[in-house]
Amino acid sequence: MKIIASNFKTNHTRKSTASFIEEINGFLEENKIENEVIVFPTATSLDSFSTASNLTIGAQNAYAVDKGSFTGEIGTEQLDEFGIKTILIGHSERRHILGESQENIAKKYEFYKSKGYKIVYCIGEPLEVKQSGLEKTLEYIYEQFVGIDTNYENLILAYEPVWAIGTGVTATTDDIIKVHSAIKEKIDKPLLYGGSVKVENVKEICSLDGVDGALIGTASWNANDFKQILENTK
Ligand code: 13P
Repeated sequence: MKIIASNFKTNHTRKSTASFIEEINGFLEENKIENEVIVFPTATSLDSFSTASNLTIGAQNAYAVDKGSFTGEIGTEQLDEFGIKTILIGHSERRHILGESQENIAKKYEFYKSKGYKIVYCIGEPLEVKQSGLEKTLEYIYEQFVGIDTNYENLILAYEPVWAIGTGVTATTDDIIKVHSAIKEKIDKPLLYGGSVKVENVKEICSLDGVDGALIGTASWNANDFKQILENTK
């Protein structure tokens, strides 16, 4: 069984998310797809789950609190209201664009772990690190585990090289196999690949050794494309 996840990032309105979820849920109902499907919509659309009996809805981000005075953030009190028990932590856009430090990420991870959430934890190197070779790439990735207790049954990892995200440049199968096998040797958890996964390459990527599924941005935002992705990986 594979895990196929869609990260909406800052795309789709509440209305279009609801119809996307309804369409995908119906597709999963009609087609015998055994893979686990997770959709991460924006925080404003987390209540679109009511029709989602065949897939899981997760939060792209939340603060490491139940509630409190943290302007602009949401916590578990808001997530719990919508039955959300899955969260994405450590995405490269939060690390590199929103400036989240490893310390903050680790704090979030430990908090959501203590609450029993399913955590999809992202790691991945920027281009200049990739260009300095596999050893440096792995060193960089292992730094992204500082403060993270990976001995957790609800942990899923996602390897997303920064240079492959939203660029149309997918990592080569050789790159994916090498990095995945090195990570898996250290941490025996389901490991997804993300970074320019498309309708055309998702099947090959998901069938590689050490790849337990995909975390998809751009190519998953259109419901027909996402259905095709689910079809191609079933
Ligand atoms: P793309 O599929 O657009 O490259 O994005 C990948 C990603 O960041 C998923 O979390």
